[in-house]
This record gives sequence, structure tokens and C-alpha cells, in this order.
Amino acid sequence: MRASDPRTRRYIGVDLGGTKIAVSIWEEVLDHPDKASVEKLDSVRWPTLGDGPAPNLEKIVKEARGLLERADRRVPGDLAAVGISGGGPLDPVTGTILSIPNLTGWVDVPMGSYLAEHLGAPARLENDANACAVAEWLYGAGRGSSTLVFLTCSTGIGAGLILDGRLHRGSASLAGEAGHQVIVPDGLACGCGNRGCLEAYASGAGMARRLEVLRKRDTSLPSTAREVVERARVGDSFSLEFLRETAEYLARGLVNLIFVLNPDRIVLGTIAVGAGELLLRPLRESLGRLVWPSLLEGLRVVPASLGEELGDRAALAVARDLPALPGDTCTESGQR
Ligand SMILES: [Zn+2]
Repeated sequence: MRASDPRTRRYIGVDLGGTKIAVSIWEEVLDHPDKASVEKLDSVRWPTLGDGPAPNLEKIVKEARGLLERADRRVPGDLAAVGISGGGPLDPVTGTILSIPNLTGWVDVPMGSYLAEHLGAPARLENDANACAVAEWLYGAGRGSSTLVFLTCSTGIGAGLILDGRLHRGSASLAGEAGHQVIVPDGLACGCGNRGCLEAYASGAGMARRLEVLRKRDTSLPSTAREVVERARVGDSFSLEFLRETAEYLARGLVNLIFVLNPDRIVLGTIAVGAGELLLRPLRESLGRLVWPSLLEGLRVVPASLGEELGDRAALAVARDLPALPGDTCTESGQR
């Protein structure tokens, strides 16, 4: 066996979604002139297998070992760390998945220690909104920011918060549930049990529910956020107006975050990436009406820029970048 190349460091990233899982392998060249140079060598993804976590954990280990072996055949290298970006609720301190909504059997899964043991490197687990916030902050649309809000804007709405250059998790690692701030008193019912949450209006699921009500009178209207964006792009007046209304709801939620946190960057995920300026322009107009100019002066509201790479980059950020951030106190499973 050839000796490992001491100038390279490898990372395994696991992007654990509700419907699919991706494992990626990354390589950092330590004496590269660009210090941030880390390259994705390969990745594998599959729809989450039924029957609970066991078959998925086994497959993650098998695929990760396969990726490492293939990389080693080219240049032998050491695995520095494993990062897992997952939908919550989870405990980043112990590396445990507490549960995954809509997936049976995923309760109290010690994923960090399992992967650390089977892959022989420290493994850490982070909430996906937090992981995406760190990834966009270090590699994407948040570069150069000191206080950043990342909003997922997907089926649901969650936030990852970078405050003064640190990831903010909160006392029980539950910070960032920005989708559940009430923006309409006694408004639409939300999956969390409350009424009038931001998520019930401006998430993909919330938009679909608002459309469902309107479609009772006119079935020719779009039925999903994706359809709204597609039709707005070709000038459909209903869809443009629907996006403007969605932007106003989104602004109501962002106003609270802006007044409380004074961010210099707000990075918006999926739906905002798809809709672009069709959503962002009315959103900035609403913010202009609702927020003091002094708070808007240094603030940029932008779509996420990592695109399809975001999930894999988020997992990489958990492995590679979180341990180096100031104030990060997570236990590194496998190094205890
Ligand atoms: Zn809610």
C-alpha cells in the first residue's frame, strides 16, 4: 500500500433529506495557493430506503467506503472528517437524529457516533438550515458577510443564522425556526399547530394551500409554487400578482429578523432562486416600506448561489468548516 499524501485532506459529506440521501467526497489540497480550495471528487445519491435508519446507515457507510477507495486508487489520502447535514430535529452536540418528520423509525438515531466508528474519522451532525447558512456564507452568496440570515424557502421555511461571524444555534439548538413566527393573527393553520405562521403563507406548501383555495373558483390557476414561477416568467398576470403577495408575506417575517438581528445579508433558498427578481424586487419594495432606511443601508437580499451544489456543500461545511468556527462547542463523535 502506498503512503498517504500528507498534502491532501479528504472529507465525506452526507446530505440527509426526507426523501433522498447523498454522499459526497471532497479533497482539500493543503499547499494550494488558494487556501479555500476544496474540490468535490464524486458523489452518490439515492431515494431514502424504507424500513427505518438501519439500511440507510449501512448504505451510507458502503457508498462512503467505495468513494474513498476510488479516490485512494488515484492518490492515497486520509479521511479528515465526516459531516452530516440533516433535517431536524436533531442534537448536534451528541450527533443524534431525534426524529425525521414523515419517516418512520428515525427516532434517536446516533448517526454521528455510528459513522465515526464505521468510517474511522470524527463525524458531526448539523441541522440542514444551519449547514446551508454556513455553506452559503463561506462558499456562496453570503461571502464577506458578518451577520447573515439564510432562509430555506422550500416546502417549509427554516433559517440558519450567522451572528457576528458565528453560527447561532440557541440554548437547545433550536434557533432559526423563523417559519413559525406569526405574521397574520388567527390566520391560516400551520403544520406546527399554530395559526398565521410565515410558513403557512410563503413556503412551497403554504403557497400550494393558498392556491388550492383560489382554484376552487378557477381550476385554470396554477397549483404549485413551481407552476406559479414558470407562468410568472412568461408574464402571466395572476402568477406575477401571486408572487407579489407572497413577497409581502415574506417581508412581514423578514422585518422581524431585520429589526432584531440587523443582518448585512439575507440569502433566500429554493423558491427565491427559481423566481429570482420576480420575487426579490417586490420583496425589497415591501422591506423599503416596513424597515428603517438605516437598517436597510448595508443589507443585501439575494438568492442562494450554490444551486444544486448546496446540499453537498452544506455537508462539506459541517465536516470541514464548523469545527474551525469560533464558539463551536459540538462534541466531535469519534474523538471522545
Ligand atoms: Zn407554524
